[in-house]
Amino acid sequence: MLLTVTCPICGARGSAPCRECLERLRPAPTLPPPLGVDTCLALLSYEGAGRELVARLKYRNHRGVVGGLGAAMAALVGDAGAIDVVTWAPTTRERRRERGFDQAELLARSVARRLRRPSLGLLHRAPGPAQTGRSLAERRCGPRFQVRRRLPGWTVLVVDDVVTSGATASAAAWELRRTGSTRIVVLAAARTPRPGPAAAAYTSDVAHGSVVASRCQSQAKRPT
Ligand SMILES: [Zn+2]
Repeated sequence: MLLTVTCPICGARGSAPCRECLERLRPAPTLPPPLGVDTCLALLSYEGAGRELVARLKYRNHRGVVGGLGAAMAALVGDAGAIDVVTWAPTTRERRRERGFDQAELLARSVARRLRRPSLGLLHRAPGPAQTGRSLAERRCGPRFQVRRRLPGWTVLVVDDVVTSGATASAAAWELRRTGSTRIVVLAAARTPRPGPAAAAYTSDVAHGSVVASRCQSQAKRPT
């Protein structure tokens, strides 16, 4: 049986991705990790072909992208033995239902297999709008997560599809730390190259770390 391979970025037949798209992919920018995160690793710059590749995974159910991305992302992790568990920053329940899958979970499971580390759904995302539908002020605090299982002293690798403002990664890291995990490594398929308004605001928050941490803590305590 002949399988037709199509480029997940431009749809051309041949290889996945095709050579032209491969040349258009840029490596992730070198930026400081989001607040609360020890190390932030990212594969691609979230622009052009890299952005299209992540969008295919996220919105167009192009799950064939997962294996290749997972392998390349896993290769960024230098010392897999230092990672105790692989988890992911879950999308909203509504998004998951719409799409039928959580792209961050698919990537995390693929990365964990490559690294030969266990993967566990450690984080529960509290109900609320997706980051893309929120105001700048709300986005700066990130979504609210709750830990399903405490892992005191563990090093946790948190996988996400894309790091933009860094607020989601920070919110996940903060909750994992609060419940005892000691080292948080974030691994993303892509990271935004230049700070947009949300990332610029977030970067200034990082410079005043205690301010954003206390504000987000008070938001987390708000009754639901
Ligand atoms: Zn292509």
